Amino acid sequence: MGKRIGLFGGTFDPVHIGHLRGALEVAEQFAFDELRLVPSARPPHRDTPQVSAKDRLEMVRLAVEGVPPLLVDDRELKRDRPSWTIDTLESVRSELAADDQLFLLVGWDAFCGLPTWHRWNELLEYCHILVLQRPDADSEAPEALRDLLAARSAADPQSIQGASGQIAFVWQTPLAVSATQIRQSLAEGRSVRFLVPDSVLAYIHAHGLYRAPN
Ligand code: ATP
Repeated sequence: MGKRIGLFGGTFDPVHIGHLRGALEVAEQFAFDELRLVPSARPPHRDTPQVSAKDRLEMVRLAVEGVPPLLVDDRELKRDRPSWTIDTLESVRSELAADDQLFLLVGWDAFCGLPTWHRWNELLEYCHILVLQRPDADSEAPEALRDLLAARSAADPQSIQGASGQIAFVWQTPLAVSATQIRQSLAEGRSVRFLVPDSVLAYIHAHGLYRAPN
């Protein structure tokens, strides 16, 4: 039987327990051999002041260190431009065996925006999509996704077969944490202890990240 690989993309600015618990719980639920967190590149002018792609990557690296099967995959940051998810899927797929199962994890909010993604109709040729339910979002799927959901939803996520092509909804311990909230707290000098791993917190403080400009 092939391997089961999960991909979880995000800006991770910074990575927090909402990302990490979700990743770990899905990895356990689906018995992933690997779950790779994939920090995304952004145009340089959109980087939060002081927080480079390198810092975001390093924080994810620290967060997953010694937590198998979580890993970090830096391929999107190695490109000199932001990459489309489809490019990342193509690139990862080219390194896998034909019977390896690839799962793309997306939060509910990201999933609702799927029809705006580059070549979104082709995504399921490369992977299955697992939609993480987020506590602060309970709206209906947009009209443009109804047909796709009707055709591709797996009633039982555990029964997903084949290398790609299905969509399933997965539940995780609800943690209404966001990176925005964490950046805001830090800028206001409040503690974010227990919202990010201690190793990430130490990195933030050591590098003076997310402080309000003086
Ligand atoms: P920001 O507040 O800067 O928008 P974020 O906390 O939403 O950031 P991202 O890096 O944009 O984090 O998110 C990456 C992925 O993680 C997205 O698919 C998002 O839906 C999901 N995600 C983020 N926070 C949570 C959470 N608390 N619980 C479950 N999923 C989450």
